[in-house]
Amino acid sequence: MKAPVFDFTRALSVADAVALLADTARFTKPLAGGQSLGPMLNLRVAFPEHLIGVRQIESLRQAFIDPANGDLVLGAAVPHAQIEDGLIPDVTQGLLAHVAANIAYRAVRNRGTVGGSLAHADPAADWVNTMPLLGARMVAVGLAGEREIDARTFMTGPFTTALDEHELLVAVRVPALGKNARWGYVKFCRKPGEFAEAVGGVLIDRARGIGRLVMGATDGAPIVLEESAERVRAASSDSAVAAHWTDARLSAAIDAAGIGHDPYSAQLHLTMARRAIAVALA
Ligand SMILES: Cc1cc2nc3c(=O)[nH]c(=O)nc-3n(C[C@H](O)[C@H](O)[C@H](O)COP(=O)(O)OP(=O)(O)OC[C@H]3O[C@@H](n4cnc5c(N)ncnc54)[C@H](O)[C@@H]3O)c2cc1C
Repeated sequence: MKAPVFDFTRALSVADAVALLADTARFTKPLAGGQSLGPMLNLRVAFPEHLIGVRQIESLRQAFIDPANGDLVLGAAVPHAQIEDGLIPDVTQGLLAHVAANIAYRAVRNRGTVGGSLAHADPAADWVNTMPLLGARMVAVGLAGEREIDARTFMTGPFTTALDEHELLVAVRVPALGKNARWGYVKFCRKPGEFAEAVGGVLIDRARGIGRLVMGATDGAPIVLEESAERVRAASSDSAVAAHWTDARLSAAIDAAGIGHDPYSAQLHLTMARRAIAVALA
């Protein structure tokens, strides 16, 4: 099928894009890599009247370490392939590169962007599960200025985010992990390159008081189990932190998220979580 008719304007700066997105007379959307919006246009499930190209905005294509706090500031238009290829500073002990390398196929990774994926908010996608695991913060700009949104509250439902309709996601702030941090990120896909049916993610960084487990590819936002910083710091080993994630606790969280009614899906999520724990502790 062919896409419906739309106008296209290439924005050259964030200010440009925000001004164009503020147009309430027409249904206006940003276009980044087009890897999700393109098929939606072609299948005629989305009918924007005006697309604003944001992939060429220089500041959205940059990734750098913030000297003030060591955060990685990852521009929204950075393509997955750039992360896969190790072309951005590694503050996550390889987690971002591992996740990027397992998104779809190389052709998709060449064009698809971090910001496009997060704004699209497909529950089965990877960055919507990885950023909450890392405790990242989204940086959004609208007419009212800039604000940060915790990745754990960014996704509000399937294909729905806390972004205002006219806001542009400009970057993701990823906190640096300690040198002894351990992580595991696994997913179950029927075929390589397909979207996941279940995702499990674990991060244990005792020096920074982080013990976090994520179960993704749910019916909505990922499930996040967070241990208190005091409990993590008091733990004598990484295994002691992971010991809190019992099958009973994981199953209760799966039930609370509404996936427990499907025994296959519930088992898959439980298994991915257990595998992620095993990888982190290995
Ligand atoms: C065959 C195939 C397999 C795939 N498999 C996977 C997979 O395994 N894992 C995975 O994670 N993803 C997968 N994807 C999705 C891929 O990662 C896309 O790159 C991603 O979902 C969308 O990124 P994009 O830059 O192409 O965004 P676009 O398609 O351009 O935009 C997507 C949405 O985000 C909005 N948007 C874009 N940029 C911004 C911004 N800066 N601020 C606000 N809103 C914005 C757009 O308006 C649109 O609504 C797959 C895609 C394909 C085609």
